[in-house]
Amino acid sequence: MIEKMELLDVDKLIEEFESMTKDAGNVQRETLKKILEENGCAEYLQNLGLNGKTDPESFKACVPLVTHNDLQPYIQRIVDGSSSPILTGKPITTISLSSGTTQGKPKFVPFNDELMETTLQIYRTSYAFRTREFPIENGKALQLIYSSKQSKTKGGLIAGTATTNVFRNSQFKNTMKAMQSQCCSPDEVIFGPDFHQSLYCHLLCGLIFRKEIQFISSTFSHSIVHAFRTFEQVWEELCADIREGVLTSRITFPSVRSAMAKLLKPNPELADLIQKKCLGLNNWYGLIPELFPNVKYIYGIMTGSMEPYLKKLRHYARDLPLISADYGSSEGWIGANVNPNVPPELATYVVLPNIGYFEFIPLKENVEEAKPVGLTEVKVGEEYEVIITSFAGLYRYRLGDVVKITGFHNLSPELKFICRRNLMLTINIDKNTEKDLQLAVEAASKLNTEEKLEVLDFSSHVDLSTNPGHYVIFWEISGEVRDEVLEECCNCLDRSFVDAGYVSSRKINAIGPLELRVVQRGTFQKILDHYVGLGAALSQFKTPRCVGSTNNEVLQILCNNVVKSYFSTAF
Ligand code: AMP
Repeated sequence: MIEKMELLDVDKLIEEFESMTKDAGNVQRETLKKILEENGCAEYLQNLGLNGKTDPESFKACVPLVTHNDLQPYIQRIVDGSSSPILTGKPITTISLSSGTTQGKPKFVPFNDELMETTLQIYRTSYAFRTREFPIENGKALQLIYSSKQSKTKGGLIAGTATTNVFRNSQFKNTMKAMQSQCCSPDEVIFGPDFHQSLYCHLLCGLIFRKEIQFISSTFSHSIVHAFRTFEQVWEELCADIREGVLTSRITFPSVRSAMAKLLKPNPELADLIQKKCLGLNNWYGLIPELFPNVKYIYGIMTGSMEPYLKKLRHYARDLPLISADYGSSEGWIGANVNPNVPPELATYVVLPNIGYFEFIPLKENVEEAKPVGLTEVKVGEEYEVIITSFAGLYRYRLGDVVKITGFHNLSPELKFICRRNLMLTINIDKNTEKDLQLAVEAASKLNTEEKLEVLDFSSHVDLSTNPGHYVIFWEISGEVRDEVLEECCNCLDRSFVDAGYVSSRKINAIGPLELRVVQRGTFQKILDHYVGLGAALSQFKTPRCVGSTNNEVLQILCNNVVKSYFSTAF
């Protein structure tokens, strides 16, 4: 029976987006007015003396810029169950746990219906533009999505990662249907209690529905690469399950087993076909189009800390388009990718002026004096830190992300994600960000391609236990790589940090030689398991690119798994 479903009106969505971005300035004023009217009675705003004013000028004069730390006491009272209007007019009933991979531990942020609606608006907007370029048929999607454990806080609020709160919302499923993007896996798999088991079943469902799969997606593209790396390990077991029509005994959760039993029937032809395809591939190049002949594209956030996985993703995807998904955070969404034709390295995001009120702190200026500018006042070519005022109780909240303005779509700016603002590697006058580290790793891993050096994942640490302190870069690599090559990689990493403070400090040995530590295969999987154990979800996982001394457990995982170490002789 063919299900009757209402599809989204793509032309109407695009038209709405165009008219809204043409009027971005007014839409921003109206959005701020709406946020302040809906939440004016909240204690936080009441104490700031706005007295009912809703214009941007009064707002900026009365409301301070804040970080998560500043709001922590307010959020904690909400988490503890206070039902008075603290940050929002309507009480908050759900809390999101941000991935916390950058800080080391998850942060709580409020989640509400308005945030859900803005999430869906972003999804619909980028879908409209994407589907115009890359139409899909009414099939299924292999969505590598996972839920975290949803728990109750001491005060009785539901708490889960933001993606979990979204996936569990009934509107999510309806929107996915309207976008012809239904997940091929049953809910029991998405919400399964163990992500290793869910991942296996996602792959199995994908293979069962292989001809119907229209695209492959995940929130962050790390999950896609992770899934196909796992496929390399488990493909024979998957084939055995398909051949016999019986799920491996490794899947132990009864709800997942019974949901899978409904889909799995003995199919020796399919098992033979998959086996033949897998054996015919050279180092798994082109795996995705071989397995899924009707896939039109791969979709997930691919910018920022996801860029290092692009090479591997392209390897699996061969010539399939890679389309970066939108830009947002647990705190709120920011922009949609409306240029799906652009490769992920160049992807930009257009701010939706009605999903929040946005300000931008210019980075060029002295941090203390820099005055935030409004959405339509940003300048092309400049870098800014993003400030969000949301429908979910965050007012002038410093997100900590750095973006560059690459142009305007009508009157709304197009942002390129640059990096997190906090400096990661710094010992004295040196300043290196996540982006600098990424570029250094890229340069060093390109050194010797004949050696088949593949950096599977990486992180870093500032080691101040030596005198002088020095940078430590951790690499998990595949393949056999000679010591001489890794020594050269270590030198190249050291030379690739071109920041003047670093170079001059290295020259006078105020910073010691950079150290490259190679860790055992599987070390980064242990880090992922550690974060999932803390309540993070694989869907939102981002490898911590710099591990501070306070993040002791992750540092221990890295240090305990070092198999070789090299010191640079570059200076
Ligand atoms: P979370 O802490 O899980 O809510 O993740 C939010 C953070 O992920 C943002 O503040 C960004 O640093 C990063 N992020 C989200 N979307 C993108 C994107 N499209 N490109 C690059 N980084 C992103």
